[in-house]
Parts: sequence; C-alpha cells; structure tokens
Amino acid sequence: MTTDTQSIAALVSEAHSLFAATPGGANASYIPYLASVPSTLAGLAVVTADGQVFEAGDSKYAFAIESISKVFSLALAMEDIGPDALRQKVGADPTGMPFNSVMALELHDDKPLSPLVNAGAMSTVSLVKASTAEERWARILGMQRDLAGRQIELSDEVNQSEQTTNFHNRAIAWLLYSAGTMYSDAMQACDVYTRQCSTLITALDLATMGATLASGGINPITKKRVLTAANIPHILAEMTMEGLYDSSGDWAYTVGLPGKSGVGGGILAVMPGQLAIAGFSPPLDPVGNSVRGQRMVAHVAKALGLNLYRVPGA
Ligand code: GLU
Repeated sequence: MTTDTQSIAALVSEAHSLFAATPGGANASYIPYLASVPSTLAGLAVVTADGQVFEAGDSKYAFAIESISKVFSLALAMEDIGPDALRQKVGADPTGMPFNSVMALELHDDKPLSPLVNAGAMSTVSLVKASTAEERWARILGMQRDLAGRQIELSDEVNQSEQTTNFHNRAIAWLLYSAGTMYSDAMQACDVYTRQCSTLITALDLATMGATLASGGINPITKKRVLTAANIPHILAEMTMEGLYDSSGDWAYTVGLPGKSGVGGGILAVMPGQLAIAGFSPPLDPVGNSVRGQRMVAHVAKALGLNLYRVPGA
C-alpha cells in the first residue's frame, strides 16, 4: 500500500475530480426528504487507522445516514449480546432479495438472516439492551456519536419524513414479531430504527466511523475505545455479505473491501488495520448505491492497492 500522506491526499482529490460529476442515477424518491437533496453534491473522505484525515469536495455536507446506521446498531447489539447470539437470532447470510423484502422472510422461516437489511436491522435494534424506547434510542445515538467522535444529531425533518411514510417497515416489524424474531415491542423497534436512519452525518464522519472499525475499535481521532476488537471481523463479514444491497457480490468481486451504503447517498469501505474511505453523492443506481460514491471510493481503493482478497503478484 502507498501510505505516504501526499499520495493519499492526491488520490482523494483525483477521485473526486474524476467522478464528482459522473452522470446517471437518481435521488431516492420513496422518502420525501431524500428527493429534495441537491443531486450535484459529491464528497469524499479518507481517515486512517492512525488518525490522518483527507477530504475533497462536499465532505462536510451533512446527509441522512439511512441504511449505513445498520452497521453501527449491529456493532452495539453485538457488544450487548455477543456475536454468537446475534448470528443465531438474526443471521449472517445474504437474503438474495431487496433490502426491504417481505418475501425473504417468507422464504427463510421468518429468520431475517442479515442485520443489514431492514428486517434484520429492526430485529437487531430490538436486541439492544434497553427498557424504554428513549433508552434504546439514546444508546444507539451514543454509539453513532462515539464512532464519529462528534455530536451527531437527529434531523427532525428526515425523521418526520420517514416516520410518516414507513408503513412497509412497520409491516415487516409486525411480521417479525409474530414469528418471534422481534425481541422488543415491534413498533418501538421500528420507531427507533427509523430514528437511527434519520441522523445527519458527513463523509468525514462516516470515514471516521469506518476508521474506528479499521483500527480495532478505538476511534483514531478521539482515542476512545468504542468497540470490542474481537467483534469487528464479524461486522466486516456482514458488510461483505450484504453491505451494498443486491450488488454486494459485484462490489466484493471488483473492489474487495467490506462496504455499506445508504439511500441517502453515503457509502463506506473499510480496509481492516489501515483505513476507511467514505463517499457521498445523492444519485443512486437502480439497486440503491450512490453512482458517484461507488466510483470515487473504488478509485481510491484500487489506486492504493487495497483489496481484502489481494495476493502477492496480483
Ligand atoms: N430508512 C430507510 C428504510 O428503512 C433506509 C433504507 C436504506 O438506506 O437502505 O427504508
């Protein structure tokens, strides 16, 4: 890996200037707020496991975290109940279906399989130790804040936009409840899940959150230990399986880094032990991944020779 500071800085700028205006894709339209975010925004950030920061473009624009929040609630639930119980109760396999699929539940005896699709994510939220909705929410928000090293906040506007349109997720929550794979009140888990999707983060925050995974659980900026190192390989494996919706396999094949994207236009990739790369741009491809975000992140990863599956001579 080319680790020197100047090379990473140059690559981040290069990736941004090459792909920040790539045409194609469209903002998510099923959540009203997301449809209104300017489509021209594009930001990129890299944070290394030893705390170096590189940024380009709209890296400080705050966007809705959406599905990427699933990774961080998974991390919290795993702290609470451990990786074995999490795998047994939620699962660790791709569903082979879209992120909000009901059919996936029908096909797998109501076991959600992945904590990174909506069903598994709500089930995971229900496994976080809490006795009230507010306690559950405070712990999840606290986890996002510790990982980013910043006072991330809920957007009331995004939350309102989602809480008033999330009927499909409510239906999934009740299905899980009826099958015994929801471990708290169903509507509480759906409500808190919706809130966790409605916080605003920047590409810089996201790269810091990823760098905390890359570093073994210590936030490289604040130096606070946030996660148990032994849990992180399980979290990264889940990201590989299902992090980029229906193109997770293509992402593993072409980029080879655990990743997670969200319909707010954010995308994260993590190279264990080294760094995290985060991109943001609202237009999504048909499966829900940021068109420009994927290009920018993949460019930096490839140019730095970062690929989990890389072997000598390749
Ligand atoms: N809040 C969104 C939902 O549950 C998140 C979707 C996503 O980013 O994949 O539908």
